[in-house]
Amino acid sequence: MPAYRQGRAAAPGASKLSSNESPHPPLPSVVRALQQQLGGIHRYPRMNAPEIIGRLAERHGVDVAQVTVGAGSVELAAQLIHAVAGVGDEVMFAWRSFEAYPSLVRIAGAVPVEVPLDADHRHDLDAMLAAITPRTRLIFVCNPNNPTGTVVGAAELERFVAAVPRDVLVVIDEAYVHFDRTDYFVGAHRGAGVELFRRYPHVAVLHTFSKAYGLAGLRIGYAIAPADVADSQRKVAVPFGVTELAQSAAVASLDAEAELAERIDEVVAQRERLFALLQDAGWPAVPSEANFIWVPAGDRAVELDELLQAGGVVARTFPGEGVRISSGSASDIDRVADALARTARTEASA
Ligand SMILES: *Cc1c(COP(=O)(O)O)cnc(C)c1O
Repeated sequence: MPAYRQGRAAAPGASKLSSNESPHPPLPSVVRALQQQLGGIHRYPRMNAPEIIGRLAERHGVDVAQVTVGAGSVELAAQLIHAVAGVGDEVMFAWRSFEAYPSLVRIAGAVPVEVPLDADHRHDLDAMLAAITPRTRLIFVCNPNNPTGTVVGAAELERFVAAVPRDVLVVIDEAYVHFDRTDYFVGAHRGAGVELFRRYPHVAVLHTFSKAYGLAGLRIGYAIAPADVADSQRKVAVPFGVTELAQSAAVASLDAEAELAERIDEVVAQRERLFALLQDAGWPAVPSEANFIWVPAGDRAVELDELLQAGGVVARTFPGEGVRISSGSASDIDRVADALARTARTEASA
């Protein structure tokens, strides 16, 4: 089994654009909420996380029995696999997609089935439908997809969900949905996933506080799933995975959505700038609806990685395939601009 590879650390002063984190420091209101919890850390957290689960159920118009929280949505992805798949069962996802999926599937004793993205780096939903077998138990649809930033539209996704047998759980991983500016994004912080959850009995949705909400270091995400699946998730969960600190920071973040929305808009603006910079420099950037840009540079991936590093920028590189660069702060993207301009100058003088 391959070990999970974390986005590379950055030297002090360098721009860490390797893990799709928020470039913004925590909100003051979140820091205050955490400070109020510090005196209680000799106690175990409440496993039923009543406040945050109540808030999330209300916000999405679902029942509290359908909401679970975990130590990041990656834990919930693991719970969902364990809840529905056993040894020899198949769990399908597109590839390339979130790097954690194959490992999580193997840990459960199940078989990962990887269906290649299409030529536009998007989910090939027809190929995924064709790959369903009697052993298929769960299908991940990462929307927008990590690392390519592409989205499956709401109508397309609904056609897919409708065609999947009802005994196969479709898990729509919306870790980056807040950065999506297409019609996929339905209403305030509701990707199409929750709408499909309402309409179909075999849909679950994953959301996280790690990306748009800037709480990656605290580890909290949530799933919205059919109540029987959520029950199974609670049984397979490692007890006490979500701390009171994480629960209170998540509640404080929901209270600060207007402030967070401004930050999200800023990240989206920098993403567009990053895309234009890469395109102007002749790199094959893929239009993105997430907080990163995928550059399918193929044989030149390492070259791009090295020139970014020389400019003090750490990205996520898949040698021979491409480079994923997170949308950072304006000054992070200034650095990318400088690094790209430097190579242009070098080439011009060569
Ligand atoms: C980052 C990410 C997650 C979740 O991260 P957590 O920090 O565990 O919530 C889930 N899915 C995808 C596709 C991601 O990129």
